[in-house]
Amino acid sequence: MADMTVEQLRGRVRGEVITPDDDGYEDARRVYNAMIDRRPRVVVRCSEASDVAAAVDFARENDLDLAVRGGGHSVPGFGTADDAVVADLSGMRAVTVDPESRTARAQGGATWGNFNDATHAHGLATTGGIISTTGVGGLTLGGGIGYLDRGFGLSCDNLISAEVVTADGRSVVASDRENEDLFWAIRGGGGNFGVVTSFEFRVHPVAEIYGGPMFFELEDAGAVLRFYGDYIVDAPEEFGGFPAWQIAPPLPFIPENRHGEPFLAFVACWAGPLDQGEAALKPFHEVAPVVAEHVGPMPYRALNSAFDALVPPGLQHYWKANFVKELTDEVIEAHLQHGPRVPVVNSTVHIYPINGACHRVAPDATAFAYRDAVFANVIAGMWPDPSDNDDNIKWVRDFYEATAPHSEEGGYVNFMAGDDQDRIRANYKGNYDRLVEVKRTYDPDNLFHLNQNIKP
Ligand SMILES: Cc1cc2nc3c(=O)[nH]c(=O)nc-3n(C[C@H](O)[C@H](O)[C@H](O)COP(=O)(O)OP(=O)(O)OC[C@H]3O[C@@H](n4cnc5c(N)ncnc54)[C@H](O)[C@@H]3O)c2cc1C
Repeated sequence: MADMTVEQLRGRVRGEVITPDDDGYEDARRVYNAMIDRRPRVVVRCSEASDVAAAVDFARENDLDLAVRGGGHSVPGFGTADDAVVADLSGMRAVTVDPESRTARAQGGATWGNFNDATHAHGLATTGGIISTTGVGGLTLGGGIGYLDRGFGLSCDNLISAEVVTADGRSVVASDRENEDLFWAIRGGGGNFGVVTSFEFRVHPVAEIYGGPMFFELEDAGAVLRFYGDYIVDAPEEFGGFPAWQIAPPLPFIPENRHGEPFLAFVACWAGPLDQGEAALKPFHEVAPVVAEHVGPMPYRALNSAFDALVPPGLQHYWKANFVKELTDEVIEAHLQHGPRVPVVNSTVHIYPINGACHRVAPDATAFAYRDAVFANVIAGMWPDPSDNDDNIKWVRDFYEATAPHSEEGGYVNFMAGDDQDRIRANYKGNYDRLVEVKRTYDPDNLFHLNQNIKP
């Protein structure tokens, strides 16, 4: 059979097929990280699962690279590539909720904003990221870290089933009853195994939370980090939140004369009874004086989008990450040395807690292997001006070099840079060989290789 032509692809797809000759190409080729400037051959704006299958078939038959794009947030820019086919799922954002069974279904291109809007209407939520524009797809497939993970596990721990278009263009269900090996692999193994067109999640009664950001003076940063490192080990599981190196944005609750100065912030999220919220945050108030804060009761989805404005599309991104078991004096010292040098208001460093319910899942029960790490550290360089690239990348790398000797070898795949491919095996520890087996079953020719790649 002759390979599919672009015209035949247009005939199969209900969504849009955009080539360099079409209007809208400049917009269609763009991803969130403005540092990524690639020119794909075809962008397929999918509107349903069969469009995704058509894009997969087209790439495979024409021997072209295939990039899969959900929310488009991949920092290494995995959602696009030169001369590639892009399966863009941004037109597939529907989310439906079944409050009776406490489940929600999200199409493969939904963002956490789409998801939270739909579930909040029923007073429900699940673990998602901290920025509402991030995709459910990429975030969940890599694991999924967020405010609620200590109580409900990672996003992938809340996955009940997924519909997946595999490399041969078939659509299959992955769950603990069907294609169990695939279901195991997509919970942490990233986009290596196929395109997920629909995710089914468990959701939990979380409507309002008590929380928000508190800003501490740099001179108190060591004390706050030490307290956090100890407190989080057996804090109530309703307590989520993370310390952040952060330049004060020009917000009304921060004294005007402190705008633009670096602080150690702590962003808290108490997802238990609201009347216990103030008491839950009190231990942090007792560590050191708070310079400015914006805490109180709010809808969970409001906290989930509270920092969106700090990270608009179009910034330059370069990130590094590692898992950490304990905030030792050495780790804290590295943070105290590099954190206050955070160069711009968009950049930040977060130390997310991933214990509690995340630790109750065995390391080999899903692909996500670091069930013994207590923290996921991310050094997120994000800045507006490309002429500042060298300085900002240097800050990220220096920070990372200082923390790496006191951290685990692996890092969270979703926070790792494009130059971290040599850390993949370390990232999956004892699960790596099984991931290779599953890859050989579902994608022996490595069609899905534009990701933190597990080679067959
Ligand atoms: C501003 C910002 C905030 C973030 N915050 C968090 C956070 O709080 N917690 C956290 O865990 N991570 C966070 N991340 C990291 C995030 O998880 C990754 O960037 C993730 O890859 C984003 O998914 P996406 O769908 O938006 O990205 P995309 O660029 O669309 O996709 C990235 C890759 O994921 C795969 N993929 C995406 N969708 C699908 C699908 N439907 N089927 C198959 N493969 C798919 C593909 O391999 C794709 O190349 C954040 C990233 C950014 C930029």
